[in-house]
Amino acid sequence: MNVVLIGFRGTGKTAAGHILARLLGVPFYDTDALIEEKAEAHVHEIFEEIGEEGFRRLEREVIASLPPGPCVIATGGGTVLLPENVEHLRRGRTVILLQADAATIEKRIRDTTRPPLTAMGLRAEIEHLLAVRRDAYVSAADICVDTSARSANEVAIHIKRILGEGSVPVEGMERAARAIARSGIPGDEAETLLGKVREIPANPTLRFYGVAGYPSLHSRSPRLYQQLFSYFGLNAHYIRFHDPSLSRILSLAADLDVRGLSVTIPFKQEVLSAIEHPDRHCAAIGACNTVLFCGGKSFGYNTDWVAIRDALGGEEGKSAVVLGAGGAAAAAAYALVSLGMEVTILNRTEEKAALLARRFGCSSGVPRDFDRIRPAVVVNATPVGMEPDRGSPLARDQLRSGMTVFDLVYTPPETPLLKMAGNAGCRVISGREMFVRQAQAQFRHFTGIDAPLHMIREMMG
Ligand code: NAP
Repeated sequence: MNVVLIGFRGTGKTAAGHILARLLGVPFYDTDALIEEKAEAHVHEIFEEIGEEGFRRLEREVIASLPPGPCVIATGGGTVLLPENVEHLRRGRTVILLQADAATIEKRIRDTTRPPLTAMGLRAEIEHLLAVRRDAYVSAADICVDTSARSANEVAIHIKRILGEGSVPVEGMERAARAIARSGIPGDEAETLLGKVREIPANPTLRFYGVAGYPSLHSRSPRLYQQLFSYFGLNAHYIRFHDPSLSRILSLAADLDVRGLSVTIPFKQEVLSAIEHPDRHCAAIGACNTVLFCGGKSFGYNTDWVAIRDALGGEEGKSAVVLGAGGAAAAAAYALVSLGMEVTILNRTEEKAALLARRFGCSSGVPRDFDRIRPAVVVNATPVGMEPDRGSPLARDQLRSGMTVFDLVYTPPETPLLKMAGNAGCRVISGREMFVRQAQAQFRHFTGIDAPLHMIREMMG
């Protein structure tokens, strides 16, 4: 058994780790102790001499050369802030996040010699760092355990039980098997999933992820994520949930103790009401496409807007038009505003454009206003151009050399709009690029690992 304990200091990683290693009959390593050994100095001396940056460099080297084979590894509180460390830690290992509330942590670390990381008081520093690091901790873990009300001994016994039996209770497995048989998951995929569920007693650390959508039969996410899991050595299976009822999907996901969900049409808005901790971006956009479950809590993110923002890097401050006023247009408008652009939303139903524009402080109008605006950047967030409607939302004479044209439609990869824009000397960005970038950001939320864009593009074929 190869286990990594992550989490803030004072959550019991070292104390519970020692006991867990003894219970499992494997060696125990503490990365802080390995760093001290390497530097021949105490952590507080390393911080004094080479600062936090120097300490993190040593930590990176130690993490990259951890001994192979069964063991329990306790890590420093900031270790998983670096995706490269997470990639090393997760390969072939089960990562367990230990959590505790700020008051418990304060009580546990008050008298230690570990140097402060900020100029704040101890309690304020704990609360601040817990908030700043929350997403990195939640992403990097396979399993989350609250240690606030447990002794180190109880934590170790609890983890040993999960490692032996899995986090899916027998009743959950039975319910899930019945629900899978009745679900809209396509036949061969349902069979594979049932096989995976039956495999849990022999493979208790297997974790599930999936896409929630209706229809989701066209989704390329299952194939992509399965390849990513396999490349990064993660013990995970990705499910295609295909059901018109989001609550049925969420119930099956709960029975399977699913770690993460990609959310697509038509659930991006509806899912928000089921999430306890949506981040500020999905709350502002009003849509969520990424859900993470950790320790009985749910966390929501929107990676659509991140993908649009990153694909348009270098276009900051220009004038822009968004065509359409639906869910994708909201993510696009939010991204363009975040890039300091002057944004106008144009939609055939003018009231919907006006409503969206008011939310983000943009202007609005109808498609014929395009010629008056003469924008430098255009984002098509309508389905025009998608099979079977092979039209273009703009005419050839509306496109000028030097313009940037981003078509969110991704089937076909080259839409009539992009073809015309390319011929007119525009910079063109395809909807496929948005899919690739949003998947990269989503995989980072799901696992804490940065998969390179070129790898995702290649896996997409
Ligand atoms: P949506 O919520 O249904 O909104 C569609 C918008 O397009 C509405 O404003 C609608 O206008 C407008 N529209 C529909 N048909 C039109 C037509 N024939 N002419 C002019 N306007 C029309 O859909 P969505 O979720 O925003 O998705 C929009 C597009 O973005 C889809 O093609 C989708 O595939 C694409 N998308 C791509 C990615 C990616 O990863 N590349 C991600 C998300 C979405 P009304 O308000 O008047 O109905």
